[in-house]
Parts: sequence; structure tokens; C-alpha cells
Amino acid sequence: MPFISFDESMRLVESIKLQTYKKEKIFLMEALGCVLAEDIVASYNSPEFPTSAMDGYAIVHDESQKRLPIASINPAGNDTLPTLQAGSCIKTFTGSLMPLGSDTLVPIENVRVEGESIIIHQSVPKGFAVREVGENYRKDEVLIPRNTLIDIAHIGVMATLNIVSVWVYQKPTVAILSTGSELLELGEIPTHQSQIRSSNNYILEAMVKKYGGKPLQMGCIADDRATITHTMLQALNSCDILLTTGGVSVGDFDFVKDSVQEELGCEVLFQGVKIKPGQHLMIAQKGDKFVVALPGFAYSSTVTALLYLLPLMAKFQNTTSPLKTITATLKEPFAKKTDKKEFHACNCYLEKGHYVVDFVGKKVGTSAILTNMLGNIGLLVMDEDETTKAMGESVRVILLY
Ligand code: AMP
Ligand code: MG
Repeated sequence: MPFISFDESMRLVESIKLQTYKKEKIFLMEALGCVLAEDIVASYNSPEFPTSAMDGYAIVHDESQKRLPIASINPAGNDTLPTLQAGSCIKTFTGSLMPLGSDTLVPIENVRVEGESIIIHQSVPKGFAVREVGENYRKDEVLIPRNTLIDIAHIGVMATLNIVSVWVYQKPTVAILSTGSELLELGEIPTHQSQIRSSNNYILEAMVKKYGGKPLQMGCIADDRATITHTMLQALNSCDILLTTGGVSVGDFDFVKDSVQEELGCEVLFQGVKIKPGQHLMIAQKGDKFVVALPGFAYSSTVTALLYLLPLMAKFQNTTSPLKTITATLKEPFAKKTDKKEFHACNCYLEKGHYVVDFVGKKVGTSAILTNMLGNIGLLVMDEDETTKAMGESVRVILLY
């Protein structure tokens, strides 16, 4: 298969259409970080009745009346709404319904109490400190449209509507499998010197959790074709997306790509993209299930997962990748060495309100250097046809924190 451009690979991912979306109704307090699968519509006016916005005295507005007897007291939550008689006032509090017949709230600060009466020493306009019916929202207003990522304010607004459970898109289950005979899982005791500790399956599990998927950790398996095929087939049965690392390159033991193409019954969407890092990645489809096969190097698999897994996970929730690209200014020159689309780990931070980029502490070397992703990390994006950038030039950065 010929290598395709990054833009073409993104178009292919964007054009993926799922046959069915899985939805579920979940308890409101489980919904943070899920994507709404229904419009949230106001079922009543809020507030439903004129309500006091301050502590003070409810009156009928009349500039000529400065002294008013206090007829009664009307706390918030009062179960009987008092009626205001003309020429008097009712002590009323923040959150109390306004007494029937009243139209204005004179704050405590504006009056002096003398015996059983108030003297208004600073008058207020008619309607002062009264929250009108529907100030928050009106009945039948769409307050949160479907496909919204549920954040803290959405939880609060839904609680005000007494929404106990809510329809959301099911988070896709992402099975995560690292391949490589040299890999040791967490805690596994090395038996010889050519083994290395796997990081990919753990960083990817964390990524899936962070960006709205349900991880299914499959651990590490050896570069054995039969084992790889068997494990991938098993994983595909219980996930929406199978995410693998290793074994997609051109080495003699890179069996993942062969298994996907020849034994999993998948249609390969693409294999090989003109990007750095991670050029050998592959995405394949089997109905509404996907295989995202990433290279083994830790930096490569992390970056390509951010670029490809995130939009794919978002598809299952009818939304798009949450990553944001910003414009920043280079604090040092940057030399691009290939004609591929490049994604470079950089430090990206605010200076006098503007994003700036430097490479302080970033090591130069292979795509094995995962520690380059620590800190205020961004990915400097360089297009295929871009070359060297001078200090002070504007660049695009995918912000990762
Ligand atoms: P591969 O893509 O299988 O050719 O692997 C490329 C490089 O990534 C090799 O140096 C591997 O040892 C390394 N690698 C593969 N899998 C992992 C993993 N799960 N965690 C960390 N490094 C890995
Ligand atoms: Mg390998």
C-alpha cells in the first residue's frame, strides 16, 4: 500500500460512518465526561415565581412612602406565601418568594428599623432585586444540545431540572495490546538483558481513560504470529477499537500488520502515512469495529494515538477530537529535517498572554524518548512542505495540557 499524506489519512478517519451509535441511560453523577445523546430541555420556568435576590423588605413601589410597618417575616422555603397589604412591608430574604402583591425589594442596607417599622433612607427603582419568572431559563428552552461533552456546569443545570438519569453515547471500549518479545509488563521480573519495560500499553490505557473511552488492558504478548492473531481476534470480540503497538513496521517479526490484513477479516483503511513519528501506522475496519495498529516506539505510539485514536473514539460519541491547536511564537529556531508532516515535542507556555515555544530539555534522538513528553508539553506541527523556521516565527502547536 502506498504511503498517504497526513491530510488524506485524516480525511479517511473523518469520513468513517458508524452504522449504529450505542447509547445508554446513566445516573447524572456518572455522566461527567460523557457526551449527551439527547437535548436537555427546560421542563419549567426558573424561577417559577418572582423571587427575592437580596435580604430586605418587600414593598409595593411608592416613592412617597418612606415609613412602613413590618407586617410579617417571610423566610426562604416558607410554605405559605404571605400577601402584602398596601402601606406595609414584609421582611423577605434571598431566595424567598416575593409576597403576593409586592413588586420591589428594598435591601436591608437601605433602611433603618425603628420599633416595628422601617424607614427607607435610600429608595430603589420599581422591581429592584426581584428575580423575574424565567430569569434562569424558560420552559421548553433547549439548555444543552445533544452531542455536548458533559462538564461540571452541565451537571448543575441538569440537577436544577431534576434530571436523575440522562442518555449519553456509550464510551467506546478500547482493547489495548502491546506486542514485542522483548517486553516486560509492570512488576514482571527480567530474565535476560534484552528485555525492556513496556510503557505503551499503560500510557495508552491512561490516554483512553483521559479522553473518554473505556480501556480494556490486554497486556503484552510476544512476536508470534499465531499468538498475535488469536489474541487480536479475541480482543475484537469484546471491544469497539483494538489498539495495538509494535509489529507494524518492515522487520521480520512485525506480524501485526500481516495478521490484520490476512487473518482478522478487516478492511484496511490505510497503512503508512507520511508523518514523523509513526509512519507505519495502520487503521483497519470490520463493521463498526476498528483496529488501530501503532508502531512500537513509545513517542511514536503516543503521538499517533493522540492524532488517530482520539478522533476515532470521539466518532463513537458523535463528536470530534478534544485536542486544541493554538498559534505560538518560536523562542528559538527550528530545523525540519524531513519532507514528512512532523509532530515535535516542545515546551509551550504563556508569556505575557501569548503562547511561546522552546525546546529546553528536549533530547534529540529516536522516537523512543518518551520523557520528551513531560512538562508543559505541546506538539509543534510542521507541514510536509515547511522547512526551517526562524526564531520569532509563528507556528502551530497541539496543546497537550
Ligand atoms: P516495533 O514497532 O515493534 O519495531 O518496535 C519499535 C521499538 O519500540 C523497539 O525498540 C521496541 O523495543 C520498542 N517498543 C515496542 N513496544 C514497546 C512498548 N510496549 N513499550 C515501550 N517500547 C516498546
Ligand atoms: Mg517489535
